[in-house]
Amino acid sequence: MTSTSSSPVTETILNFIDGSYRKGSEGKSFPNVNPATGSQIGLVHEASQADVADAVTAAKAALTGPWGKMTTAERVKLIAAVATEIERRADDFLAAEVADTGKPRHVASHIDIPRGAANFRMFADVVSTMPGESFNTSTPDGGQALNYTVRKPKGVVAVVCPWNFPLLLMTWKVGPALACGNTVVVKPSEETPRTAALLGEVMNAVGMPKGVYNVVHGFGPGSAGEFLTSNPDVDAITFTGETGTGQAIMQKAAIGVRDISFELGGKNPAIVFADADLDKAVEGLSRSVFLNTGQVCLGTERVYVERPIFDAFVARMAAAAQGFKPGVTGDRAYLGPLISAEHREKVLGYYRRAVEDGATVVTGGGVPEISGAEAGGFFVEPTLWIDVAHGDTVMREEIFGPCCGIVPFDSEDEVIALANDTVYGLCASIWTENMSRGHRVAAAMDVGVCWVNSWFLRDLRTAFGGSGHSGIGREGGVHSLEFYTEITNICVKL
Ligand code: NAD
Repeated sequence: MTSTSSSPVTETILNFIDGSYRKGSEGKSFPNVNPATGSQIGLVHEASQADVADAVTAAKAALTGPWGKMTTAERVKLIAAVATEIERRADDFLAAEVADTGKPRHVASHIDIPRGAANFRMFADVVSTMPGESFNTSTPDGGQALNYTVRKPKGVVAVVCPWNFPLLLMTWKVGPALACGNTVVVKPSEETPRTAALLGEVMNAVGMPKGVYNVVHGFGPGSAGEFLTSNPDVDAITFTGETGTGQAIMQKAAIGVRDISFELGGKNPAIVFADADLDKAVEGLSRSVFLNTGQVCLGTERVYVERPIFDAFVARMAAAAQGFKPGVTGDRAYLGPLISAEHREKVLGYYRRAVEDGATVVTGGGVPEISGAEAGGFFVEPTLWIDVAHGDTVMREEIFGPCCGIVPFDSEDEVIALANDTVYGLCASIWTENMSRGHRVAAAMDVGVCWVNSWFLRDLRTAFGGSGHSGIGREGGVHSLEFYTEITNICVKL
């Protein structure tokens, strides 16, 4: 059996447990919908508590099986083979990701799928060149001791994922977890189960031992998400998603004192100084507001612009926004749908709230008129607001849609205070041609990542994560090894 059956309308998406595809043991399933059309395109088999327990048991057993006995070199070779196989099957992954998310093909083919493969290849490299640590220690009797550390896998890692970049964000966790010798049980978002399921075929094709990679489908509370995070045989939980969900998972992780790594929400600011290169700023910021229809944790939802260029900037951003045409086919291939009808209602609620609170809509603010197959899709218009106050809901809460408020400022100190006045701390971007100011203001941002004259320019070796309500811990490069390994210090009296 493969991850899915063949007919697209009745396609069934299966759990992947101990190397085999399985239906849910309680016979439950839920619909899989294409957000670009609103049509059901498949059925997802929901894992029961017993299925989740089976997946965890398989993952635990795999730790002491052939996988646990592999040398680092053997393991890393297998992980690099996963990257190569994803690339070989890029069209299948692309079709699966586009079906689940409705996103334009060019977004998935340029970002989601290549990064899915890169996440395995990069962490295979990091682990093969992982540095060790040793100290010569003076002992009280005038002798010497050698102190060194060894790193071991944490064990069974639960990977709970969101829907905005399903393969990319899942492999960002699975890649380093496996490279470090752990085994994983993945709970993909209920909205986007396909690429996680398909990765099971890749694992089998490269000869990954059974039980190393497992996938269980379902929802959060009372379903696979909660069953997984509360399973006592899970040794660590890595989660990407909403801050509120992170809090719920943290409570489960407290039982048994399990380690967590959280990448959560944001309300990311951008600061545009009057000396910025306006072409670059508008190009970069329109991407940061509208890419993936604003469903990017790193997306910009607050833009502060120095007063002398405020009007010019707003006019340029409005023109750029109008270039993002909602739709995914033909000449409308720029702005994809939101992930679900429910999420569109949430975003439209913020569109209404902005106006109620006194904002002026520069462009957008509603639902576009689309005919044909996409008429039932969950599209919204790209939207910009001015005349928004710092305390307005749309300037404080994460919306996760293609929209932002634009606000003028007069001084560097003022704008640093405004940008930092949020419970979140994920990322920021600064736009200026004065590099002294660029470095100074970037260092003053209370965030995990700050870009200067760019956005979403990622080097996977760097530390990634957020502060405050945006997360706990950092992953990326050697930072991932801190989470996915346990250290033992060995002290040898010489
Ligand atoms: P979500 O929190 O609703 O769901 C994420 C996952 O958690 C899903 O698989 C869901 O089924 C599961 N889940 C929900 N409740 C659970 C529970 N009680 N126990 C266990 N699992 C549970 O998030 P989402 O709507 O899928 O994703 C959007 C959010 O993710 C946004 O807030 C966005 O900012 C955030 N995000 C953050 C980053 C980052 O790197 N910081 C990256 C992408 C997305």
